[in-house]
Amino acid sequence: MNQPSEELRQPIPLLPTNGYENVKHVKRVDRLELENLPRGEFSRRFIELAENGMSRPIQVPVVVARGKKDGPIFGITAALHGNELNGIPVIHQLLRKISLRNLRGTIVCVIVANVPGFLTDRREFIDGVDLNHIMPGSPTGKMSHVYAHNLVDRITSHFDYLVDLHTASPGRVNSLYVRADLEKPINARMAYLLQPQIIVNNPPSDYTLRGVADEAGMPAITVEICDPQTFQRDPIRKTLQGMHRILNHVGMLPARAPLKPFKKEPILCDRSYWMLTERGGLMNVFHKVTNKFGKGDLISQQTNVFGDVIHQYFAPEDGYVIGHCVNPIGQTGARILHLGVPMPADRIEQFKETCSPENLASKGDV
Ligand SMILES: [Zn+2]
Repeated sequence: MNQPSEELRQPIPLLPTNGYENVKHVKRVDRLELENLPRGEFSRRFIELAENGMSRPIQVPVVVARGKKDGPIFGITAALHGNELNGIPVIHQLLRKISLRNLRGTIVCVIVANVPGFLTDRREFIDGVDLNHIMPGSPTGKMSHVYAHNLVDRITSHFDYLVDLHTASPGRVNSLYVRADLEKPINARMAYLLQPQIIVNNPPSDYTLRGVADEAGMPAITVEICDPQTFQRDPIRKTLQGMHRILNHVGMLPARAPLKPFKKEPILCDRSYWMLTERGGLMNVFHKVTNKFGKGDLISQQTNVFGDVIHQYFAPEDGYVIGHCVNPIGQTGARILHLGVPMPADRIEQFKETCSPENLASKGDV
């Protein structure tokens, strides 16, 4: 497991003191009221979304960076799956580096979107429900549905843009990849500017937070920052650099450096799906993230508990490894490998045109 870097251990210099006292004095509210927050300052809030069995509020930690100049509201959410943590230091470092004097508009950072999951090292909410499968929730009903509803209603519906930060689930690893509806040019440009290893075209209609944003006409991308339950220095740094480029593109922050051609272009995938096991047993996956393979290549094999090979899995088509399983134990139907289907040449050309230097330099679509 990668150790957090020295840089990551440094506190965020937002308030004069750090540590517990800061948390204790953070204002508790039940709604994000941006217009009441001071311009040219960082504001911390705990926003109440539901109550637990002790009648105690469940409060989501939010930091708002409100620039002196008017502009859009840019939302960043992390840990909607409670054990997907790499997005949290991305937010910490972004906040540390923003100059409020130069910021046009407001950046709202939801540092931990799924507080109960975060506290229990779990992907799901208290009641075992995956919050990113039930968005936008419901004002009445199961606790997870009410919490999801309040998260959208009280916080994310205020945004003009959304970047939702995730990682793989425990037992799996991911590349640094972005899911976005690439038919929308602004989404394609946000995805490209993040400069992940892989970009997957993924129109959302799936009860995710991004899907809700999309239905509201909000440009939105999901960033999968590699592996769960850890801080990984390189992908965190790359995501942070990408966030700065996106914030510059939407006209909220000045460029830190002129946009240069990227060293390695992202792999473009038209869609993706998981290969699943047909048997139960011990699995060995023979590919690493971002690897390319051809139709018919051996992807993985399963043995029984005595070590005899019981099944081999071959690629059903050409593809790339977006992510894969690292937990050898798998029942029937277990996930093996997240297969990215390469984008056809004509759509790659279309994407390149959308993300041409002229179009990236233009602020016309923001
Ligand atoms: Zn996730």
